[in-house]
Amino acid sequence: DGEAQKLEKAKITLNDCLACSGCITSAESVLVSQQSHGELCKVLALNKAAAAHEQKLVVVSVSPQSRASLAARCKLGLLETAQKLTTFLKGLGKCVHHVFDTTFSRNFSLLESQQEFVRRFQRQAEDKQALPMLASACPGWICYAEKTHGSFIIPHISTTKSPQQVMGSLVKGYFAEQQHLPPDRIYHVTVMPCYDKKLEASRPDFFNQEYQTRDVDCVITTGEVLKLLEQEGVSLSDVDPSPLDSMLGGAAEELSSHRGGGSGGFLEHIFTHAARELFGVQGASIHYRPLKNKDFQEVTLERDGQVLLHFALAYGFRNIQNLVQKLKRGKCPYHYVEVMACPSGCLNGGGQIKLEGESSKEELQQVERLYGSLRAERPEENQAVRELYEHWLGGWGSARALQALHTQYHAVERASSALSIKW
Ligand code: SF4
Repeated sequence: DGEAQKLEKAKITLNDCLACSGCITSAESVLVSQQSHGELCKVLALNKAAAAHEQKLVVVSVSPQSRASLAARCKLGLLETAQKLTTFLKGLGKCVHHVFDTTFSRNFSLLESQQEFVRRFQRQAEDKQALPMLASACPGWICYAEKTHGSFIIPHISTTKSPQQVMGSLVKGYFAEQQHLPPDRIYHVTVMPCYDKKLEASRPDFFNQEYQTRDVDCVITTGEVLKLLEQEGVSLSDVDPSPLDSMLGGAAEELSSHRGGGSGGFLEHIFTHAARELFGVQGASIHYRPLKNKDFQEVTLERDGQVLLHFALAYGFRNIQNLVQKLKRGKCPYHYVEVMACPSGCLNGGGQIKLEGESSKEELQQVERLYGSLRAERPEENQAVRELYEHWLGGWGSARALQALHTQYHAVERASSALSIKW
């Protein structure tokens, strides 16, 4: 009858998410009750007020994509941003103790993905589902695959954990041991470029039953860090820099990255490793060939006119759907596909700081320029990573490495994933 009627507030939990890409990859609209900057502030306040023997050690792990987005917005360099962000985050509630960089955990994700690809390639004759191997670092894609293509796609998805979840294993495993604390006495927060990472952290696979704790307790987006800065009335440019923390002790003096673009460089690392290990080609060069659009490109390794390796990247749901159709028709020519849910990849994630309209394109270009400006390191050459493999994980392929660095996926029946909203 045209009269206004006040509705009860809707409450949506993470379990209701269908990963339709409508809400979880667009900035404002996700309503998640346990994973937000508001929740973080509440937890920090409670932690500060708790008795000393009950207080948790608070660790924040910042993704390189978030750092680049903040640097572009605040017009600062990457190192400066990291140093100032460390000061700001440690000042939050005066009880954040360590600030790490998930570039470190990405080394493990890249190395494990490389090895996993070579193993799958070698068993392709006896295992028809070994190839193509599909990337596993994007939870938007994983959620979509599990809920819409279930058991058909899952065997193709790499079992390697994403950099966020490897960081979870490192912080609640290795770092907790170093601090002589059980995993539930650490509160681990990550700063990520998208909302989908909140879904990932909430997966039952990353919940430690014994200690009743998650590997990542709370995920906040880059945009939420900006909100925190605004809430505290702080401009990052005015904050004093702090030395960067390193998980193995001491201060990290510089930042490094990995080559291969803003989504982590999985395609490039696996490609060059496989070219070397499987075909003896050292330093294989990488030339992207755009297909339907810039978010669907392919790379090949050829010898005497024969294609030895055929890789692709497929970003955004339009290209993902194309890829899935190809797979279903048995017409997917690729050995590996770097699949990412966001068009343009993680630097353009739904949780990044964004402007509207034309300026948003320029801002993304600036984020990409900044992100690509760091020295790229090879994960194999990182001394700290080697040390952890040797001393903490007990070597390559050990049972502990498998448990800390790999995961599994679950087909979800469509009927059981109906959205339930109480109005
Ligand atoms: Fe998140 Fe988008 Fe990156 Fe996927 S592609 S991990 S949804 S930012």
